[in-house]
Amino acid sequence: MRSRSLLTPLSMMLVAASGVRAAYLASVSALTAARESSTSRRPDHPAGAGLVMDGRLPAYEGVDALYSPRRTVLDTILVEAAREAGAEVRENFRVTQVTSSGGRVTGTRGAARGRPEVTETASLLIGADGKRSLIAGAVGARRYREQPVRSFASYSYWAGVPVTCGELYQRPGRAVAVFPTNDELTMVYAAAPMTEFASARADLEGHYLRTLDLCGDLGKRVRSGRRAERLRATPDQPNTFRCSHGPGWALAGDAGVVMDSVSAQGMTHALRDASHLSAAVVAGLGGSRPLAGALHDHQRRRDRAIRGIYDFTLGLAAFPPGHARPAPLPRRRRRRPAGNRPVPRRLRRHRAAGAVFHPPHRGAHPRLAGHRQAHDSHGEPAVLRPAAT
Ligand SMILES: Cc1cc2nc3c(=O)[nH]c(=O)nc-3n(C[C@H](O)[C@H](O)[C@H](O)COP(=O)(O)OP(=O)(O)OC[C@H]3O[C@@H](n4cnc5c(N)ncnc54)[C@H](O)[C@@H]3O)c2cc1C
Repeated sequence: MRSRSLLTPLSMMLVAASGVRAAYLASVSALTAARESSTSRRPDHPAGAGLVMDGRLPAYEGVDALYSPRRTVLDTILVEAAREAGAEVRENFRVTQVTSSGGRVTGTRGAARGRPEVTETASLLIGADGKRSLIAGAVGARRYREQPVRSFASYSYWAGVPVTCGELYQRPGRAVAVFPTNDELTMVYAAAPMTEFASARADLEGHYLRTLDLCGDLGKRVRSGRRAERLRATPDQPNTFRCSHGPGWALAGDAGVVMDSVSAQGMTHALRDASHLSAAVVAGLGGSRPLAGALHDHQRRRDRAIRGIYDFTLGLAAFPPGHARPAPLPRRRRRRPAGNRPVPRRLRRHRAAGAVFHPPHRGAHPRLAGHRQAHDSHGEPAVLRPAAT
């Protein structure tokens, strides 16, 4: 399943750092710029729905926006960048088996579509093959911090939906994200508790649309557009860490740590993991330190970096009954430099009502901006205003 991709500033910084040329990044921003309508409209929340948080995202290493490119666009950009950096890329090639000798992984067997099977050998095999990683399974990578599936996700792409910015909603038992993406389409995503999946299956589209109806006028706006693609729904959202290395092998991205999509953190993790793992591999295979030690340190660093957001994500995906308040933010993300004005504590509970993210510089370089923790993060606090305005 091709998932949506909402990219955080950290992701964009990592995409840039991974050697993607500025022109490529410019094409991402151009393709995914928030669309401005002549009558710049705001979502209309009914009175009583709480407050709307209207925010700008504080800059992280110079990136102050969220991006929401289609995966088809982003993946092509990354593959081209890898090719340009000198990697031999084989597309439509399926790995079917991991080879080993004396307890050490030595390579893979696999085939390009319609071609005979080939064996490839390597000093180190890196499994970046996603949440159902064949390589992790073949090497028996140990799982830890594993939790049952908590939510299922439904999403589709719509044409003609009036949106001028990204929107996030949290409702009891629901999380909804709306983001403009490529080709003048809008991605509309909804998450709901896994316990509802069996009953929702009979009418997934009805369940999805009824969820949007919980978000002010969102359901009405979405229905005023046209669904451009089929509705995709998935309960395949495992939550687990896997041991990331062993003799002759290592894991990256979802293959190593996977979590519920509700927090949209998977790409950030995958990009950061790839960056840190490659540094460890260069050190280990380059001879500046023993490979096993470098990979061991990488796993510890990975786990430290992701533990907080993993727990936060599981809290969001649990949809505690009775209220829409999300789990507390991971401790590290709550730090705020002195001098920033926090949103008063009594107002913080209202962030569950909805968040609207506008391009920071309308007209000049339109971008999506804002994030749900903008109120207590590292920059300008978000503005809270009554929902009815
Ligand atoms: C519904 C949904 C919505 C999401 N939304 C977001 C979001 O908005 N933002 C975000 O950051 N994250 C999101 N995620 C998570 C994100 O998609 C993943 O975390 C991210 O794609 C992980 O990247 P990866 O490279 O590790 O794995 P993948 O993107 O899964 O890539 C693995 C690759 O390995 C290939 N592969 C697998 N097996 C084999 C084999 N045997 N041989 C050859 N190739 C193989 C696959 O074809 C694929 O190309 C979402 C996930 C879901 C399910």
